[in-house]
Amino acid sequence: MDLIISHSCPSCGGPVEMDEADRLTVCPYCEVQNYMVGGRMHRYVLPDTIPDHIDRRSVVYFPYLRFKGNIYTCAGRDVDSKVLDTTHQGLPVRMLPPSLGLRPQAMKISMVHKGLAGKFIRRSETAAEVLHRAEKLARSAVGSVEDTLHHRAFIGESVSCLYLPLYIDNDRVHGGVLNRELGRLENWLVDSENLMDLKKSWLPTYLAMICPKCGDAMQGEPDSLVVSCANCETCWTEDKHRFTKVPYELIEGEPGDSFLPFWRIAVTTKGIEMDSFADLLRITNQPVVVREKHRSRQLEFWISALKIRPKVFITMAKGATLSQLNYPSGDVRLDKKIMRPTLPYKEARQAVKSVLAETALNKKDVLPKLSEMSISVKAARLVYLPFKDRAHDFVQRHSPMAVAKSVIRTAYRL
Ligand SMILES: [Zn+2]
Ligand SMILES: [Zn+2]
Repeated sequence: MDLIISHSCPSCGGPVEMDEADRLTVCPYCEVQNYMVGGRMHRYVLPDTIPDHIDRRSVVYFPYLRFKGNIYTCAGRDVDSKVLDTTHQGLPVRMLPPSLGLRPQAMKISMVHKGLAGKFIRRSETAAEVLHRAEKLARSAVGSVEDTLHHRAFIGESVSCLYLPLYIDNDRVHGGVLNRELGRLENWLVDSENLMDLKKSWLPTYLAMICPKCGDAMQGEPDSLVVSCANCETCWTEDKHRFTKVPYELIEGEPGDSFLPFWRIAVTTKGIEMDSFADLLRITNQPVVVREKHRSRQLEFWISALKIRPKVFITMAKGATLSQLNYPSGDVRLDKKIMRPTLPYKEARQAVKSVLAETALNKKDVLPKLSEMSISVKAARLVYLPFKDRAHDFVQRHSPMAVAKSVIRTAYRL
């Protein structure tokens, strides 16, 4: 489940609420939209009810690291997936629970901000260790331990830091959320080696939603990772603190269609040698007569650019990849009902092996070769496929692909 984050509008300072996955803040007061720069670990603080007689400068914030994401596993003859959402102490301490459990989901948490006067406990656990722990959890949760593991990928994962406020009163440590006494003062709470001030680099930074090409206002939904300019028909994503252009096309549909985003990724592979679409059909043993049109087509994976439940995600990617010759060429007219990407290209790229494994009808031949396989990307672009807008489903115009609207709309909330 996504956390609800409260913070202040970067333009006017008014209180704003946003979903954890959101990148766009839309302020109800000044109506200005700002795009939050990514790439750093998000840091949040749990709300406190610390009594007034406690000096706020003596408050200590204790870190928990949170992992959230989908894990795909190719083991034995199976392709499996799992959604993981866990928190773990950033420093091993007996006094505090090893995990925050479901607590943060029931609270109004906020982003770290300049107003936090206390000290922050330095964490000993790194983001890499968090991934390692998530991997271990996945191993116990997915598949049989006896199966040989061929490949594992994290897709759309995020690691964030949640701070639990603590304070000391009469030499006793108290939890600041519920004002409960936790125990006697311990060394890690006062050791200056362990304590640090809030760092400026922890605070979120923003870009104005202004088109870098024509200066017009850009459009996006709160969780869009790609935003667009209807005036000059361009799409942009944030990379290293600036908007960079995303090549894209919309495949022709009918009036009223909804357009769902896919990353179209052209690759060559080693280990399992593939260069053309014909190679993919042959390697995965598809019941298709391989013709010249397959041989002359470069190898492309078409991977959903939406953060959706892993089973639907992988099924859509398989469907679009195998049907790619059905899709006519596109144009760049943005005056349609489009759903903008919520999964970045960098994450979609990591799904290539899992999509290949899912596509293979001969899993026992293909899966054992995945660990030796390497992939190089030749080109990538965003492509919007038209879907008929039915009562409960989106049905693709050119290929046998349908997806429940509930899956797309609610995206991925546990
Ligand atoms: Zn504002
Ligand atoms: Zn523009």
